[in-house]
Formats: sequence, structure tokens, C-alpha cells
Amino acid sequence: MRSILSLGIDIGGTNIKICVVDVCGGVIEKDSFPTQGNRPYSVVLNKIIEKSKQVMLVHKNIRGIGVGVCGPTNSDQGLLITSPILKNWSMVPISQMLSDKLNIPVSVDNDANLAILGEYKYGAGKGYMNVVGFTLGTGVGGGIILDGKIYRGRHWFGGELGHMTVKTRGIQCLCGNNGCLTVEASTHRITSKYSEETGNKENVQKIFELAWNQNPHALRSIDPFLEGVSVGIANVLNIFDPDCIILAGGIANAGERLLDVIVKRVKAKIFPGLNMYLKITTAELGEYSGAIGAAILAMESQV
Ligand SMILES: [Zn+2]
Repeated sequence: MRSILSLGIDIGGTNIKICVVDVCGGVIEKDSFPTQGNRPYSVVLNKIIEKSKQVMLVHKNIRGIGVGVCGPTNSDQGLLITSPILKNWSMVPISQMLSDKLNIPVSVDNDANLAILGEYKYGAGKGYMNVVGFTLGTGVGGGIILDGKIYRGRHWFGGELGHMTVKTRGIQCLCGNNGCLTVEASTHRITSKYSEETGNKENVQKIFELAWNQNPHALRSIDPFLEGVSVGIANVLNIFDPDCIILAGGIANAGERLLDVIVKRVKAKIFPGLNMYLKITTAELGEYSGAIGAAILAMESQV
């Protein structure tokens, strides 16, 4: 008997990632294509439907689809409520639109929730019950797993860790607030500060390298990022006291040095009694963690 599979789809601001996952979390196939999120959502969803049909023709034992999307999501109804990144995506019934055309159950959730669900189940959070994760990149997202379940809040706006205020009177965020973690600790903030300082453009990885070599411009450029992320993590630790904090996203791979610096700053901000339990780790599933988490959601929805 062939094993049951799920199709995970991660709709990001830039790319849509899809992967076929088996019941043990193994990735059978993966692919990605541009989102072009400025187009009407019906056009983007039709493209996803076409891709899904192609994949389902090859893998006939796919029994469910999971979709991760950027923004607060009503996962009972499979509805994206709003998105700060995808323009004009408001109250989009993703689950219904996809399942009507594909004749298969479709589950929907916030993309960062699903990335952390993936890590919780098969990555850096394996074996724990309470895990909080941050996705670091052009913006910051996050997900909270409490007692083995995604915490979504009463009105589906819970777990939006990127929109916690880490600096009063800070930079304006797309959500309307000022000083949200997602803008204070974005990669754009690092690169733009560096070009302000030096007149040169460098990528984030290079700026971190320069900073670790004590380049003063690079050190000043990464400081707001380090402070924002550390404040965010410390807040979460003091509120939830989870088993571990997971840092995901390309920037989390800026080396052990980054982790060391963040740990040091976090320790200075949390209850001293928590220091001995502090566990901050980097994600293990890579850039497809959201799509893998989406496939897991689909699998769990069928149980
Ligand atoms: Zn915000």
C-alpha cells in the first residue's frame, strides 16, 4: 500500500513554495514559483490550483492540502482575514476556492505559525511541548505552540509576534503601529543603515561578517536588529516561559556568533531565574519549513 501524502503550499510575499510530504515528515518533492502578489488574488490562487493539479496527477495518494499565508487567518473557515504584505488580499476564502476546484480538503493558517509547526514536529522543536519561534527576514513573523497546539487567539490575531512593539515611537509599520519588531529588525533596516553609514551597498550576510570583524559601521548597522530581536525574545520568555525559542529564516544562519550575541542580550532582559533554562536554537528545516508545516496541518486536519 502506498503511504498517504499531503501537499503543503506556502504563499510568501515573493515566492510560493510547494512540497509533497509523507506521514513521517519526509519531503517527496518540492518546487517554487513567483507569487506576483500585486495581481488579484483569484489569479494567484488559479495558478496554485493549476500547479496542485499537476502535482496531484503524479502523486495520486495526496489526501489533503495545507496552505500557509502571510497575515491573520481564520483557520476554522480557511479564510485569510487581512495581509500586510499581499495587497488587496482581504477576507479571502482560500480553503473554499481551492477545495471547490480540486475536490480535496484544504486547511489554511498563518505562514509563520506553520513554519514553527514544522519545526515543532520534525525540526528544532522536536520533543518539546511549548515552543515559540521567530522567522527573521525582510520582516519578522512568529508562531506559538502551547501544549502541542498552535496558539491562534480568540479572534485569530494571536501569535503575531512580529507586531509586538519593541520600540515606542519607532519606525512606522504597515499595520499602522510604530516600532513593531517586524520593521525594527528587518533585513532592510540593516542594509539601509549600512549604506547610510558608508555610502556602499552590501548584503546582510556580508554586513554581519564585517560586524564580527569589529567594523564599526557594520556594528552600528546590526545593533537595532540585535536589540529588537532580543527585546522580542525576552518579552516572549517572560510571558510564556517556553521549552525553547527557535530562530528561523535566512538571517538566523549568520553563524553561532549571532546566536551568542542574542543570548547575551536576552539574558540581560529576562527574569534572572530563567537564565538557567534559556534555550535559543536555530531552525532545522530550511526555507521549506512553512510548506512542510502546511502539509502537517493538512495531515492533522484529516485525523
Ligand atoms: Zn506592525
